Amino acid sequence: MRGPLPPIDGHGIPVDEVTRPWWDATVNRILVIQRCMPCGHWQHYPRVLCTRCGSTELTFAEVSGAGVIDTYTEVLRSVRPDLAPPYIVARVRLAEGPILLSWLVDLQVTDGLIGRPVSLAWAPVSDGRNLPVFRLSEEVPPPWTSP
Ligand SMILES: [Zn+2]
Repeated sequence: MRGPLPPIDGHGIPVDEVTRPWWDATVNRILVIQRCMPCGHWQHYPRVLCTRCGSTELTFAEVSGAGVIDTYTEVLRSVRPDLAPPYIVARVRLAEGPILLSWLVDLQVTDGLIGRPVSLAWAPVSDGRNLPVFRLSEEVPPPWTSP
């Protein structure tokens, strides 16, 4: 993985008591998403409260990582010296509903990607964690419906 390590605190998704289960699962390359036990709502990033019903009864559930590209942009100019272009940043809507901001990898084409199905891959970082990234897939996930 190019670029700096994911932040331990202060920026992005910090490692704290709320997000630690998410980060810990990435060590084993397992993607978990926070789910509200009373109402079934999936949400990402992890929070203290359910964004739908306000419950604090939240858990983490493993997901496959199947999704579709919601939108994306190809970065062609360097924005940081440690992150060399080109690369593609994408919003991926998981089959469960939440959106992850991530990277697309192993692409042969960079046009017409919105709506294309993707599957989960992992990009290792040097401290043992991994970041979820996505590659194109032929398997279309089932249409998302709100629980
Ligand atoms: Zn809820």
